[in-house]
Amino acid sequence: MAKGADPFENATKQVNDACDILGIKDKGMREYLAMPNRLLRVKLPVKMDNGKIRIFTGFRCQHNNDRGPYKGGIRYFDPEGGVKYMEREVMALSSWMTWKCAIVDIPLGGAKGGIFVNPKKEKLSDGELERLTRRYAFMISEVIGPEKDIPAPDVYTTGKEMTQIMDTFSKLQGNRYQPGVITGKPIPMGGSLARNVATGLGTAHCVREAAKVLKIKLKGAKVVLQGFGNASTFAGEYLEKLGGKVIAASDSKGSIINPNGFKTQKLIEFKQKKGTVVGFPGSKKISTEQLLTSECDVLIPAALENQITAKIAKNLKCKIIGEAANGPTLPEADPIIYKKKIMVIPDILANSGGVCISYLEWVQNNMGYYWTFNEVAKKMEDHIVRGFKDTYEFSKKHKIDMRKAAMALAVSRVVEAFNLKGIWP
Ligand code: NAD
Repeated sequence: MAKGADPFENATKQVNDACDILGIKDKGMREYLAMPNRLLRVKLPVKMDNGKIRIFTGFRCQHNNDRGPYKGGIRYFDPEGGVKYMEREVMALSSWMTWKCAIVDIPLGGAKGGIFVNPKKEKLSDGELERLTRRYAFMISEVIGPEKDIPAPDVYTTGKEMTQIMDTFSKLQGNRYQPGVITGKPIPMGGSLARNVATGLGTAHCVREAAKVLKIKLKGAKVVLQGFGNASTFAGEYLEKLGGKVIAASDSKGSIINPNGFKTQKLIEFKQKKGTVVGFPGSKKISTEQLLTSECDVLIPAALENQITAKIAKNLKCKIIGEAANGPTLPEADPIIYKKKIMVIPDILANSGGVCISYLEWVQNNMGYYWTFNEVAKKMEDHIVRGFKDTYEFSKKHKIDMRKAAMALAVSRVVEAFNLKGIWP
């Protein structure tokens, strides 16, 4: 998220819009749904390699746990707006996690956290990074746990940091092995199979379901991938298996097109060698705008936020947009896209494969029994397909777009849980 509008204000607006659809007028209820339950800010002293002490700042924001323990990533990040901006960002992101879990009906709530640091830019050594990670784990240890709050990787954190957090937490519990305290762990540490394909596969499942209801044949369907990385390549490969044809792709160095289509696997191999998709044999270089507005059936934005502006929306020539990226479409573009009868599968649904697999990792950790790749992938598919169908039915019933439907449905599920429990003490 770039510096600019307050992300938490955006998140609050989305909650209020959902409340309007649901007819929730009570101001207190609206505030309850928008505000996080708890925001923890921690001071993190670290002995650096040069012997000096440096103080870092960390956060853990727990938005809502009415449907189950909090769940959400930990990012190491230094947004332009500084620590204050990061605080608002984790508040917003924790809110989006609540709705993301609710829409695919997994029994978890929303959280987000992180440390204000850019380990790549600052070139922190492995030792410095580990001391920082373990100190952070220690400082948030009272509020996390397999039944309380289960973090996961996010920007600039990986399975390595997840292992260090799990180990620190386990040792603090009298050395009791606690793999269920965190997800996104490497396989030998209790991680789940299918983690790396989860997001792209989930996006592809949503696209397949959308094609069914729109009566679009996927055999021969033209697919455009913006941001040729983890999410889009697995989405592209799966859609290819269903008969689709990837005709355009892009990365940070540029965009390419070949109207006859190319094999995703060949493009992956090319990018691995050359570091970019640009120059792929048989393709022509095009601009980002040309890529997004190419004539196609399926557009998968899987790069950055704020890509589909009102201007781009007016020129879109696709039938389905599967938002693998977070926030690729600006709010100004939504009504234009809806009018053009293009179906947008919103990010909280289209990229929820990752959190579904995280949930399944936690389930496996808690029962101490591990499923095969196919078993996990099938369970993830069930959640996503149900999430898509529920959202689609809700959008038809209320005559609203899929984004509004997903948010309103998610909010209604949290409200239902809240009403069943009431307020105590
Ligand atoms: P990735 O780093 O594997 O791939 C991102 C790709 O986008 C890279 O190829 C990069 O070169 C490209 N890119 C960067 N700037 C670009 C630009 N200006 N124009 C075109 N391409 C550009 O990342 P990913 O894991 O695939 O994530 C992609 C998006 O999906 C992000 O928005 C991420 O937040 C979201 N997402 C990913 C996951 C996941 O599990 N991977 C889960 C939820 C959401």
